[in-house]
Amino acid sequence: MTTPTRIVLVYQSLLGIYGDRGNSTVLVQRLRRRGLEAELVVVEPGDEVPADGDVYLLGGGEDLAQVSAVKALRADGNLFRGLEGGGVLFAVCAGYQICGHSFTVGAQDTVHEGLGLLDVTTTRGATRAVGEILTRWQRPDGSTSLITGFENHGGYTRLGPAATPLATVEKGIGNDGGGTEGAVQGNVIGTYPHGPVLARNPDLADHLLELALGRALEPLVMPSIEVLRAERVAAVRGR
Ligand code: GLN
Repeated sequence: MTTPTRIVLVYQSLLGIYGDRGNSTVLVQRLRRRGLEAELVVVEPGDEVPADGDVYLLGGGEDLAQVSAVKALRADGNLFRGLEGGGVLFAVCAGYQICGHSFTVGAQDTVHEGLGLLDVTTTRGATRAVGEILTRWQRPDGSTSLITGFENHGGYTRLGPAATPLATVEKGIGNDGGGTEGAVQGNVIGTYPHGPVLARNPDLADHLLELALGRALEPLVMPSIEVLRAERVAAVRGR
């Protein structure tokens, strides 16, 4: 852990078309509102990725940008070092897919190697998954809570034995239409929902911060968020 806590937003010019950079704002603000110091580091291809990040963030993007991102992250190498040093990686959609062993791109479904950080593989699914998604997140302590967001992906992701699903799907497609959503493996979490998903689901944001800091955080009571969440869940359930 560094002081201040370093939130590293990785390659938004490649993986930033779904507004997932909002996840970085949420993490920084949830630390600052608790009186904790936070630093946002924005890294673009060509910049060195800091090896001492506390939370690294990858977002959604186009297929070809995924290939460029993998190439640049492999050449840089510091994301791998940062995770070995205890950093947490939170990756959304295209960012999630590139964390796996492989993903496919284009009409020919060309297979590209991923970063190998999650035991998952992604190939093109039967239909594109587009729309609201509602899942139930299985917390490590056994408790659960709802995650809301929207999904927009053509790739379907299958988990190998080393990865655990992040959540089960109540509404939407998730990983591959088989009822699971996202993957967790050590300090790496991948998931499909945009929103930004940490703005819609502050419990998940705090979970990432607690993982990175290695300690529990004081609750941050923001009733307006709960009202918005309840409205969103009701709308997705059609009630
Ligand atoms: N290009 C990937 C897919 O369609 C990821 C899309 C995204 O990041 N929203 O599966």
